[in-house]
Amino acid sequence: MHLGIFGGTFDPPHIGHLALAFEACHQLELDNLLWVLTPCPPHKPNQPITPLQQRIEMVQAIVKNEPKFELSRVEIDRPAPHFAVDTVEILGDKYPNARLVYLLGGDSLRDLPFWRQAQKFTRLVDTLGVMHRPRASIDLSALKHDLPNLREKLFFIEAPLLQISSTDIRQRVRGNRPYRYLLPPLVDNIIIKHGLYASRF
Ligand code: ATP
Repeated sequence: MHLGIFGGTFDPPHIGHLALAFEACHQLELDNLLWVLTPCPPHKPNQPITPLQQRIEMVQAIVKNEPKFELSRVEIDRPAPHFAVDTVEILGDKYPNARLVYLLGGDSLRDLPFWRQAQKFTRLVDTLGVMHRPRASIDLSALKHDLPNLREKLFFIEAPLLQISSTDIRQRVRGNRPYRYLLPPLVDNIIIKHGLYASRF
């Protein structure tokens, strides 16, 4: 089976994440897609982050009506630090017959050489499904030079570029600017219910 792994802070999850997830399911013929919520992302040490419970609630709202989507607790249930290399190793052991397809945006691919044990990470995954992001230019030859086993694993997902980010949505909420159609209504309900992003971000 083809198992998608989609790691993120999801603070909040938005239409950009959904576009990537749906395109990946279609183009990479995923049987299941695990949304791997990261409790404390090692690469965002200085960023205030919404409490885990409320981010869980938002990701649950995203996955609950999509049969292929699932919230994975693989990082939630283990102590920090949460490195992707450990996550894919654990999931590889748990699903020994699955082909592991790790999804990420172009900005994350650009930073991949700086991830913990990037060589091992690229060895453990079968495919890296990448969706371009505006303003994230990628030097592919440098990447392939740094991580030679990326070569036959990269798959670029064809999709419209979406200039949507969680950062922008947090700023819009705080600044009282429109954001409603940048994320699903169920997620917006949770933002409103808990008063998220109003002051701290
Ligand atoms: P923040 O603005 O807080 O950094 P984000 O919008 O980048 O958040 P993350 O939860 O950090 O969201 O992203 C999880 C994954 O989804 C990353 O691999 C990221 O590159 C990808 N991603 C997020 N938004 C988009 C988008 N609009 N298009 C394509 N990929 C995206």
